[in-house]
Amino acid sequence: MKITAIDVFPFRLKPRRDFKWAGLREDLGGFVAVKIETDEGLVGWGEATPLPDWGGAAGRRSGETQATVVAIVRDVIAPVLIGTDPTAVTAARKAMDLAVIGNNYAKCAIDIALHDIWGKSVGLPIYKLLGGAMRDSVYVSHMVGLMGDREALEEAVGAAGDGLKALQIKGGVDAERDVRLIAAIRRELGSDIMLRLDANQGYRDARNAVTIIEKLKDAGANAVEQPAANLSSMIEVTRQSPIPVMADESCWDIVDAVELAGVRGTDWISIYLAKAGGLYGAGKVGAVADAMNIRCDVNGSIESAIGNAANIHFALAAPSVDLACVIPINAPAGTHPYKVGGNYYVDDVVTAPFAVRDGALLPLDKPGLGIEIDEENLARYREH
Ligand SMILES: [Mg+2]
Repeated sequence: MKITAIDVFPFRLKPRRDFKWAGLREDLGGFVAVKIETDEGLVGWGEATPLPDWGGAAGRRSGETQATVVAIVRDVIAPVLIGTDPTAVTAARKAMDLAVIGNNYAKCAIDIALHDIWGKSVGLPIYKLLGGAMRDSVYVSHMVGLMGDREALEEAVGAAGDGLKALQIKGGVDAERDVRLIAAIRRELGSDIMLRLDANQGYRDARNAVTIIEKLKDAGANAVEQPAANLSSMIEVTRQSPIPVMADESCWDIVDAVELAGVRGTDWISIYLAKAGGLYGAGKVGAVADAMNIRCDVNGSIESAIGNAANIHFALAAPSVDLACVIPINAPAGTHPYKVGGNYYVDDVVTAPFAVRDGALLPLDKPGLGIEIDEENLARYREH
């Protein structure tokens, strides 16, 4: 089997409400879908969710946009991969890395589409290609964006009311607000819900961060994500924090994971397929974490159904991913199972809602990604 064409579709979904976090200037919801065609008629889909103003620790990575993903896929990656075997996913990643440094979001979209074709070619869902299910379902942690206290509390209560058991609270801009909000949510929802405060590097230096984290713990936080930016600060905070510290911006790929694990620069790791350039790279991060007894979640940039299907397959199969994942529950307009929990977009590009039970996403059991793309919707939401 050979790749015959690679097409790109920049599109945008309308968010249910404003979801912001520290540093985010664009609205959520800008994507690039990638469609790979083959000479045997099999088609694979992938997705990039680029965020121009989000990146690696201290701003060292990313900066990709919809336009850069389109250009890199069309002008740099497609010429290298057309004519090659789409099921040779490792070779494809190596070829992409030789063709262009970085640009992991673009590579992620291609990697997902290749896995989709591989799975379809052998009649297996992607999670079975990755070694099979480690768990029956993937618990969803709902992201409560940077918003006023009342709205944030409403969002948290709504997600818990839908049956979700974990929340990721965005913060890092105003530490007093973060402590006050965590306390209010904990008071309202009791002890069972897991509360993780994501500071998006906002607590600056280690000493300041540790002082804030002690207050967050007293207010009821279970964990803190990316409190500071630099590796030296993350090491210091991890040493002193009374609750687990999670690396997000600090951990993109296997090189970051090895470095962090070696110096104990974090307790937990937040794995994104995008940061690692797809399922292949994310698997390596997961393997390091597994070897070093580092717990992980799968997180991302609130993907559309295409990217999130890949998230679900990965989260089902990776041994180290045992924390609730900050990933959406995708559904076409009017079919979402929940009012708030995992509900970020008013419509999506699949024909059926993702199945959930008790706040957890269930396996997608059809071959490849296991979803059917709604190409009419994709055309409707296409941007240029
Ligand atoms: Mg984060």
